[in-house]
Amino acid sequence: MINTDVVIVGAGPCGLFQVFELGLLGLKAVVVDSIRQPGGQCTELYPDKPIYDIPGIPVCTGEELTDGLLKQIAPFEPGMYLNEEVTVVRKDGENSFYVETSGGNQFNAKAVVIAAGVGSFQPRQMRVPRVDHFEASNLHYRVQDPKQFSGKRLVIMGGGDSALDWVLELVGIASHITLVHRRDEYRAVPASVDKMRKLVADGTMAVVENAKVASVDTTDGIINSMTLQPKDGEAIEVAVDDVLVFFGLAPKLGPIADWGLDINRKTINVDVEKFETSVPGIYAIGDINFYPGKKKLILCGFHEAAMAAFAIKQQIEPDQKVRVQYTTTSPIMHERLGVTD
Ligand SMILES: Cc1cc2nc3c(=O)[nH]c(=O)nc-3n(C[C@H](O)[C@H](O)[C@H](O)COP(=O)(O)OP(=O)(O)OC[C@H]3O[C@@H](n4cnc5c(N)ncnc54)[C@H](O)[C@@H]3O)c2cc1C
Repeated sequence: MINTDVVIVGAGPCGLFQVFELGLLGLKAVVVDSIRQPGGQCTELYPDKPIYDIPGIPVCTGEELTDGLLKQIAPFEPGMYLNEEVTVVRKDGENSFYVETSGGNQFNAKAVVIAAGVGSFQPRQMRVPRVDHFEASNLHYRVQDPKQFSGKRLVIMGGGDSALDWVLELVGIASHITLVHRRDEYRAVPASVDKMRKLVADGTMAVVENAKVASVDTTDGIINSMTLQPKDGEAIEVAVDDVLVFFGLAPKLGPIADWGLDINRKTINVDVEKFETSVPGIYAIGDINFYPGKKKLILCGFHEAAMAAFAIKQQIEPDQKVRVQYTTTSPIMHERLGVTD
């Protein structure tokens, strides 16, 4: 069991800034996100696109904003648990919450902040009948340990960075790789595509473009081979030990729906003083929350993070007066930020 003051569900811009606001008030936080990198929509959906409405930063990309936030929260040394979904949030006493993740981590926290954006990003599934059936055997949407594919015949599906990155990483480990893409243009960076094409040209691997899966041949819940149908030309049958699918990620509200909160369509109702949900001690900020006048903007989420931090401090220390202190002049803020005067 890992003890902390606050568990933050979601490492998007609002979840990251929540660490900062809590840190200024002397509270420790851990952040959990179901995807592999922090930044939420900013890094998952638009890492290179410019954002123009962050106060004081005339323009920055989604990735630059995330890097800046990570630097800003570094003094508070938050625990960062990536590639793990928060599955359970349960109140088990006054100022006490039990939180569990899909990675098997268990936390005890005094408060929980849900900064889950448009929901937990989940891999888009391959569309074949009874697809769930193979997920326990040889169909994979993420790679935990590349060595598990040593000497295996792999079909890797997709045309983005994840698909191409794994092709290039696994090509020296697997016995053979066939990359299957529904188009002949790739979303992956051109350098990776060039490398892949060279490997195809020298016979190290194969690629089937403009193709979709026509059928899969299975025995006892294991995929043995796939029949690929290119737009033009004959069907191709490929024998396979493992299939890796990288069709991108789509957001889903996911387990949040089961945490006993007052949900309004796919958002969580909060008040506008504390940004607290219907369960005292659980707060919601950023795109996931709803209140009259809500705007899904990063700067609104930053304000909500500040307000929630003050409310959490007051919740944990009800007899203390929580004062606003300026980072410019307050010695205690400087100490918490690691600034030497
Ligand atoms: C193309 C595009 C351009 C945009 N441009 C702008 C702009 O210019 N200015 C602006 O202000 N806003 C912009 N936005 C909106 C902005 O990105 C969002 O308002 C912002 O990302 C919300 O931040 P967040 O932290 O609330 O959530 P998100 O960024 O959505 O992050 C939430 C994170 O929570 C994780 N999560 C969810 N559920 C769980 C769970 N159960 N367990 C673990 N992790 C979980 C998700 O995986 C995700 O990483 C844009 C959005 C898009 C799509």
